[in-house]
Amino acid sequence: MNRRSFAQSLGGAMALSALPGSWSSSPGGIPGPIMAIAAHPGDGLFTMGAALAQQIERGGTGALLSLSLGEKGASKEIQVQQYGEMQRTATQKATHLLGVAESIFLAYPDAGIPYNEESTLAVCDAIRQYKPDVVVTHWSGSWHKDHQNCHLIVRDAVFYAALETLSRSRPAHSVSKIYYADNWEDATNFVPDTYLDIDAVYEKWLQACDFYPMWRGQTGFFRYNDYYSALAVMRGCLAGFKHAVALMSDPGQRTSRLRSL
Ligand SMILES: [Zn+2]
Repeated sequence: MNRRSFAQSLGGAMALSALPGSWSSSPGGIPGPIMAIAAHPGDGLFTMGAALAQQIERGGTGALLSLSLGEKGASKEIQVQQYGEMQRTATQKATHLLGVAESIFLAYPDAGIPYNEESTLAVCDAIRQYKPDVVVTHWSGSWHKDHQNCHLIVRDAVFYAALETLSRSRPAHSVSKIYYADNWEDATNFVPDTYLDIDAVYEKWLQACDFYPMWRGQTGFFRYNDYYSALAVMRGCLAGFKHAVALMSDPGQRTSRLRSL
């Protein structure tokens, strides 16, 4: 198992972190490619889109992989298939606005994303194709089965992608860091340890989210726009930035290897 870059990336993981009074910025230079992998497009934009946009703003590249179209979030007035296409169109507009180089959909059914060898290898192949340094995805503490499965799929896919002896159409690729996104549906035991300054992209990110009917409250009760726009302010207060997103690093990234304290 090739976990070296993942497990030994502690220094890099902390580079984006900030605690009140002790924040730091990433070291100079262009950030590495970042890939957001979400169960549904709304999760990708609302909870991971600002991090994508921020890395792109600093000269990096980004890709968004959605495992489904989120088509079953349709309201009674909209057919499920039609809503799926609305979600696809909104995602294309949003990612274009944010400068995301690749927006990819895997056509698993909403509310039925499978956690199995096929789906894990499909995500592995996407990771090998787009070669991200950083992956952002769902935390496991979710009530939503698609989010839980996405978390499990991504963890296994990162492992498979790095496995030199796993022969696929593309060569192995090691992801350096995994972060879990701050999602109201994945809140159980979510403990952020990394705060990312998104002030430079905050307004553009809100515009991108506004392409989705769900963001504007047209498909359900939850006030996505109020929640996520305010969350960025609240996380910014904690981080010492005007606007921030909070992320939770994978436990494997938190291990220190020191010769002395
Ligand atoms: Zn979702």
